Amino acid sequence: VHFRVQSFQVCIQRVISLTLSEMSRFGHEVVYVPPQEPMNIWMDQDKMIQLLINLIKNAYESMEDNKKVIIRLYPRDYHVVLEIEDQGSGIPPEQLDQIFNPFYTTKDSGTGLGLSICHKIVQDHDGTIEIESTLNKGTRFIMTFPMASKEE
Ligand code: ADP
Ligand code: MG
Repeated sequence: VHFRVQSFQVCIQRVISLTLSEMSRFGHEVVYVPPQEPMNIWMDQDKMIQLLINLIKNAYESMEDNKKVIIRLYPRDYHVVLEIEDQGSGIPPEQLDQIFNPFYTTKDSGTGLGLSICHKIVQDHDGTIEIESTLNKGTRFIMTFPMASKEE
């Protein structure tokens, strides 16, 4: 079993340092808005890191140079809310219900597997995932995960 109670902040910091050099190559910036309080969830940390990397990679692949990815983490109703927002191309409304399908891609050399893996990882963590997207403005992935109490 790889599930343990882990700090979400620590996990996000790790992913930011892993993706930073690739992001800054295109002049992109990552803005992280952390919560006031420590926020723990039951997680398989390797899987959670993969989830974050897949979403951040999609974010910067959708953006022109010198844009921002904003990551927010905050509590809501005994859940942790994680938002990953980009200033990219946006997703056409008619594509929204396909993007989680395995092998669905609009990229010349995409695999179309990133988001289907993300969906599975969210499910395995008893989470939810939603998308808000505006064409030519950007996309926000909003996830929630049950918070782990300190005693667990
Ligand atoms: P891939 O990145 O290999 O194409 P994914 O499963 O990661 O596969 O994404 C599927 C498709 O969803 C992408 O090809 C793209 O059309 C769309 N998509 C995903 N994330 C974003 C995003 N942040 N902005 C715009 N489009 C996105
Ligand atoms: Mg992808």
